[in-house]
Amino acid sequence: FGDKFKKPKGSWDCAVCLVSNKAEDNKCVACQSEKAGSSVPVTSSGVSAFSASSGGFLGLDKFKKPEGSWDCETCLVQNKAEATKCVACESAKPGTKAELK
Ligand SMILES: [Zn+2]
Ligand SMILES: [Zn+2]
Repeated sequence: FGDKFKKPKGSWDCAVCLVSNKAEDNKCVACQSEKAGSSVPVTSSGVSAFSASSGGFLGLDKFKKPEGSWDCETCLVQNKAEATKCVACESAKPGTKAELK
């Protein structure tokens, strides 16, 4: 019972005149009252706090790898740039093709 009166998704009732408005309407079609909740103040402070937390990434700089070093895809051991095979499992360095002769 009452299912046929189901409102379209996003529709809203005017708080002033109780007219039912469509989701895309920003004002009441009857009395031009603003849609309830549409005037939420946008706080930019919350946004800056967000980006500040991601700035913690900079702390990883001290873990910077020696230039050219590479991580073995198989055992994740870090190898020196001059190593062409993993020192641990002897897997070939990623990106280096087996030389064809
Ligand atoms: Zn209204
Ligand atoms: Zn390895």
